[in-house]
Amino acid sequence: MGIIKNYADEDRIRISWYIKKTDLLGPFLRSVLWVQGCIRNCPGCIAEHTHSPEGGKAVHISKIAERFITETSTEGMTITGGEPFLQADKLCRLIGEIKASRPNYGVIIYTGFTYEELTSSSEKKVRELLCMTDILIDGPYVAELDDNKGLRGSSNQRVIPLTARYSDQMNLYTDLTGRRNSMVVKDSAFRMIGIPSSVSKEIMEELGII
Ligand code: SF4
Repeated sequence: MGIIKNYADEDRIRISWYIKKTDLLGPFLRSVLWVQGCIRNCPGCIAEHTHSPEGGKAVHISKIAERFITETSTEGMTITGGEPFLQADKLCRLIGEIKASRPNYGVIIYTGFTYEELTSSSEKKVRELLCMTDILIDGPYVAELDDNKGLRGSSNQRVIPLTARYSDQMNLYTDLTGRRNSMVVKDSAFRMIGIPSSVSKEIMEELGII
């Protein structure tokens, strides 16, 4: 069975939301795109609102590209969700459009698939998206393996450098001090940026945010 799903018309990506600039989800300042749609339902997932393929909104690829291209204080973007590889074809187009203006743009992707599942896919766009990625954080979130460390949710998730671009920043993903997050209000709902520590999660649970 294929990975890529059709969640929007050919010129649009179904997204939950995006921000043009943050320092909370990877090295340096970066834009972040949360795609909409995930089929896994990992227990304890903090992004349940991103699971429904009918949720979020379908946004024109060029509109997102233009927003990220013009945010010149960033050096790249992080794509998370939701599951990015379900819309790998659209994300290849998005990255292609951005890199046409900013060739040295960095790309970090969080996925619930393992690297092996993606590299063995028969879908060309899945493998093409991997080729455009500098760091892949792979595998589903497993609550029992959440060790409160670094910029990944649980210890089964690997931080895989696919290029040497961020080789000096890899400690961000494993340091005890690496987790930071922030809450913002967007479209009358709380949105979280970053990977929450256990203390942040407790507070959000108490407030009924997750
Ligand atoms: S893969 Fe990610 S977004 Fe999907 S359910 Fe698991 S933790 Fe949530």
